[in-house]
Amino acid sequence: MNDTNDALVIEGLAGGYDRFDVIHDISFRVARGEAVAILGPNGAGKTTVLRAIMGLLKHRRGRIAIEGTDVTRMSPHRVARGLAAMVPEGRRLFEGQSVEDNLRLGGIRLRRDRDRTSRLLQDVFDLFPVLKRYRDRDATALSGGEQQMVAIGRMMMSDPALMLLDEPSLGLAPLAVADLTAALRRLREQYRSILLVEQRVDLALEVCDRIYVVYGGRIVDEGRADEMGAEGRALIDAYLG
Ligand code: ATP
Repeated sequence: MNDTNDALVIEGLAGGYDRFDVIHDISFRVARGEAVAILGPNGAGKTTVLRAIMGLLKHRRGRIAIEGTDVTRMSPHRVARGLAAMVPEGRRLFEGQSVEDNLRLGGIRLRRDRDRTSRLLQDVFDLFPVLKRYRDRDATALSGGEQQMVAIGRMMMSDPALMLLDEPSLGLAPLAVADLTAALRRLREQYRSILLVEQRVDLALEVCDRIYVVYGGRIVDEGRADEMGAEGRALIDAYLG
């Protein structure tokens, strides 16, 4: 197997909390430059998969590789050093810190490389011009949609090989969801490797190349977004309840 052509390879992943497995024998791939969605209802185990990739799930089995590097037993801070970065559910911005400070904290591993940090900051401002205008404002005083932009920008600042997003549309107003969708599409057009966890099927199909459906801790369906007909969508909707 040639893992290095893949941004992410997961094989036979199982794990959970307090020795109880909540995910069982999960295997899938994200090719380099591909955007892939994991869809599933509440409690299906989607966040648990992301936590396992970030090294945050203590109890896990199977194998996880990011661009050919085995991260199965890697500590979270090593994974965060350029392999993967996550936009967590609920955004979790640093309170009392400005937009720019939040962004720079995301890029703290690269702080000695000022040129690269400036380029990354510029990438974030190109994607979200509003953040440049608000760079000195308290990040947690922004609207929900703007805060989500900060969270995505903060993830971009560590220049990760793999971008993980956990339900970024949650709690956003319709207009903010449309802005988020447009931003994720632009990231995809830049051939970033993206793994998106969502409950919104429409958003996932619009932004991603392929989708997997997780139910009860297992992958129960998969497909290409552009081949997803009404029947496929009905099946996903049935799983999502
Ligand atoms: P949601 O959309 O609700 O976030 P999810 O698909 O991301 O759902 P997970 O958060 O991965 O689901 O949770 C899967 C299962 O693991 C759930 O039954 C949940 O109760 C359980 N679980 C999650 N976090 C913990 C934890 N820290 N300790 C114990 N059980 C947990």
